[in-house]
Amino acid sequence: MSAVKKKILIVVMDGLGDRGCKELNGLTPLQATDTPNLDWFTKNGISGTCDTVDIGIRPGSDTSHLSILGYDPLEVYTGRGPFEAAGIGLIGKYGDVAFRCNFSTCDSGLNITDRRAGRIDKPDTTELIKVLSGMVIDGVEVIIKEGTEHRAGLILRGSGLSPEITDADSHGNGPVSLSKGRIPEAEFTAGVINKFVKESYERLKDHPVNKRRIAEGLHPANIILPRGAGSFPDIQPFPEKYGISAACVAGVGMIKGICEICGLDVIDLPKDCTGGLSSNFISKAKVALDALQKYDFILMNIKAPDVCGHDYDPVRKCEVVKRLDEMAGYFKDHFPEDLVIVFTADHSTPCSLGDHSGDPVPITVFTPGNVMDDAVKFSESGCAGGRIGRIRGKYIVPMCMDLANRAEKFGA
Ligand SMILES: [Zn+2]
Repeated sequence: MSAVKKKILIVVMDGLGDRGCKELNGLTPLQATDTPNLDWFTKNGISGTCDTVDIGIRPGSDTSHLSILGYDPLEVYTGRGPFEAAGIGLIGKYGDVAFRCNFSTCDSGLNITDRRAGRIDKPDTTELIKVLSGMVIDGVEVIIKEGTEHRAGLILRGSGLSPEITDADSHGNGPVSLSKGRIPEAEFTAGVINKFVKESYERLKDHPVNKRRIAEGLHPANIILPRGAGSFPDIQPFPEKYGISAACVAGVGMIKGICEICGLDVIDLPKDCTGGLSSNFISKAKVALDALQKYDFILMNIKAPDVCGHDYDPVRKCEVVKRLDEMAGYFKDHFPEDLVIVFTADHSTPCSLGDHSGDPVPITVFTPGNVMDDAVKFSESGCAGGRIGRIRGKYIVPMCMDLANRAEKFGA
């Protein structure tokens, strides 16, 4: 086969899918908004609806993006710990055990008095975390990084580790609850975590930042409480799995982290692309098109529609849809001939719910020379009649690989 191998761009409009909104006379924001550019791709491309994880499953950003990258989260997902750690830039490797942690306040008898240390935030946490890095306990390396507010991520790296342990966090005030192994082989890991918790108190209790906080009448952050142990998944790197170079264009830490775990490069963004609702989508589209000069595959994420869904704000979501359509117009006007482009969402975030739902999302795929189907409007209903039908997210990449003339022949 001598056909030119095309490149692939998946544009994930986060939380774009919706349900009928009473403020929009029962329409979804996509149905209620005029979107000539997105519709051009739907009219000229192939369309359908997509259950990113599976029918009826309400995906998180992590599980949905794993699916869109061609992995089955029902097989590879090992819990929030590793992905939240990745979300703050703490990228582990297979075999590591990751935790979510709180900076908390305790008294000298190790009784917790505030699980969130008065909602402490950076720069205090950044200072405090320094005295905790580089620890080795019973031969196990402890890697820790501050997150937003009172949160932190923690990774244990070494041999003989198991995620089968209980939280060193009673999720309330009172005596520090020690971690225990759920299986005998996990007792070692529980022991390491318990030693870490005690050591964190020793190192933090007299820290100058905490002395200052006490003097100011604030809660000191004098102990770290880890919970939600999960092992880093055994994920075959995307470039190896598909034989193509790949990168992501995203501003959200969690999405960048997932992509990094999957072996994608993370492209640095100009400042105007990272502002969530106020982000400049066209500027981001330029970054994606530039990156396609170097990479075969780009995953692009735009967070704004999800934010409107969480805010119960359909009118704002319509404005975002309008701006997404202008971005689609930019792609149309600057379309590289050898590209397969996908417009879809990672999940629905209905404005009536303020949270993610399992409703399937619209998907349109366009590349010059594809079969044109009957779908003409980019929306939950408008895409439904197209030839893609109703698919699962994990089939998007294989479908694109075929359209990009990159799929291996199966059989003689
Ligand atoms: Zn969301």
